[in-house]
Amino acid sequence: MTPETKIISCTCGACYERQERTLPIKDIGVFECVDCGVRLEIWSGRTVPVFKRIENEAAQKRTA
Ligand SMILES: [Zn+2]
Repeated sequence: MTPETKIISCTCGACYERQERTLPIKDIGVFECVDCGVRLEIWSGRTVPVFKRIENEAAQKRTA
């Protein structure tokens, strides 16, 4: 199984790579932008997102 990767961009310009992971037990959590603190996602269940900060340039190559 290959996890689906999405790029999430915050209104402040920060970009995150988002994947989903299935846990053996339920989990409740929240992810907030590291830069501005905006709440980007809330989850409750066995499928939880995993976020990884990425450089803005990597996600915005096309705008150059
Ligand atoms: Zn932000």
